[in-house]
Amino acid sequence: MNPDAIVIGAGFAGLSAATALCERGLRVLVLEARPTLGGRATAFTDPATGERVDNGQHVLFGCYDETFLFLRRLGAESLVSVQPQLTVETIDRDGRRSRLKCPVLPSPLHLIAGLMTWDAIGWRDRLAVIRMGGAIRDLQRGPGAVTEETVRAWLERHGQTPRLIEVLWEPLAVAALNQSIDDAAVATFLSVLGRMFGRDPLSASLALPLKPLDELYAIPARHYLERMGGIVETNAAARVHISNGSIEVSVGDRRLTAPVVVSAVPWFALVDVFPDRPSALASILEAAAGTQASPIVTVNLWFDRVVTDGMLVGLPGRTWQWVFDKRMVFGEQASHLSLVSSGAASIVVRGNEDLINSAVDEVRAALPSARSAVLTRGVVVRERRATFSVAPGQPRRPGVRTGIPGLFLAGDWIDSGLPATIESAVWSGHRAAEAALNR
Ligand SMILES: Cc1cc2nc3c(=O)[nH]c(=O)nc-3n(C[C@H](O)[C@H](O)[C@H](O)COP(=O)(O)OP(=O)(O)OC[C@H]3O[C@@H](n4cnc5c(N)ncnc54)[C@H](O)[C@@H]3O)c2cc1C
Repeated sequence: MNPDAIVIGAGFAGLSAATALCERGLRVLVLEARPTLGGRATAFTDPATGERVDNGQHVLFGCYDETFLFLRRLGAESLVSVQPQLTVETIDRDGRRSRLKCPVLPSPLHLIAGLMTWDAIGWRDRLAVIRMGGAIRDLQRGPGAVTEETVRAWLERHGQTPRLIEVLWEPLAVAALNQSIDDAAVATFLSVLGRMFGRDPLSASLALPLKPLDELYAIPARHYLERMGGIVETNAAARVHISNGSIEVSVGDRRLTAPVVVSAVPWFALVDVFPDRPSALASILEAAAGTQASPIVTVNLWFDRVVTDGMLVGLPGRTWQWVFDKRMVFGEQASHLSLVSSGAASIVVRGNEDLINSAVDEVRAALPSARSAVLTRGVVVRERRATFSVAPGQPRRPGVRTGIPGLFLAGDWIDSGLPATIESAVWSGHRAAEAALNR
């Protein structure tokens, strides 16, 4: 095949770009370095249980418009369960359980109404949230001036109480930004809040995959591409060479050309894709090399019985901030929990046994039904470069155009205004495809 477009990288960004190009009639070749598709959102088979284990639990939000568009294209939208209204169960450090349930009202009234009846907080906290309502309404008019203030400093400046920060804002910000609120700059958090509490109350609803991540989108994307005449190659690490304005892609000894090339690799892999350091990309390569990463650690625990009654429980103030029960994926008899620690720089170096013990201790402290259950297996997944840092002073993120005709960039780190998320990746994939089609 002489492709019309070559897409390098088969994560959410590359596969959304490739399928969008295919949808418009282009013959697309996807080159993926690894043996499997999905990049940082994928799954592997656990040899002991035979279960497909995600490399980390992924949560979507109702406001992931580009992601739902992509999943609809693949016929995979029904593989995600979206809450009809934002509902979150939490168990605080004292073991007190509560449920934040936001009624169906215009946004952000639904959040304020939900918080008014949320028994995890007191009246002083509720009054502080009402003050925050004004700030959120301002966000709906746009995120305003970019600020280098940290998330915590901004919340405190807006009168948020220590309790509200601990049980509401910190869990939300750490999950969204994958970074401590003492390190993350507030600008990206404001974009997240602006989207979650935009006009549609469903924007803030949580959405959970009903399948392991590769079955959710990577395998359906491959089928879609192949049905549409595209080709997907794995074990195909690609490099791009630019000479006299023409673009050549190499995979081993093979040399390939196409009118459109989309590089959809993460910021830390960009340097390997452009080994000749083309001068037109100098500032982008420099920014990518100067971008720091933030890790996520996940511990998967299997017990001899079901130990939770909810699919998702927040554990504010603890190392393992969220517990997910995988029954939605594996059926009612499954006892597989996934515990997530985001912004995990301080624990990523700890050994597996230590991490598993700490996760078990916290589950047992929070969930009485886990105390008598027997742990049958624990599996740790460390993603050291899960996301890019959003700390103040990080390099500027590039757009999808490169200044080299025919060459486009995609990836969650492209300047979408969002943190490193599925939505940012798919947004970039769709923008890169549009730019390629419009050239
Ligand atoms: C543990 C974890 C939990 C997360 N939780 C959430 C969440 O709850 N919600 C959310 O929205 N986001 C979450 N994220 C972030 C989300 O996974 C990423 O933002 C998204 O998957 C990035 O997609 P991408 O396509 O930009 O990059 P990637 O997924 O990294 O894909 C890039 C692909 O390029 C390939 N590649 C690299 N170099 C080459 C080369 N030279 N040639 C060919 N191929 C190459 C890589 O192998 C990879 O497959 C999480 C991430 C992790 C790691």
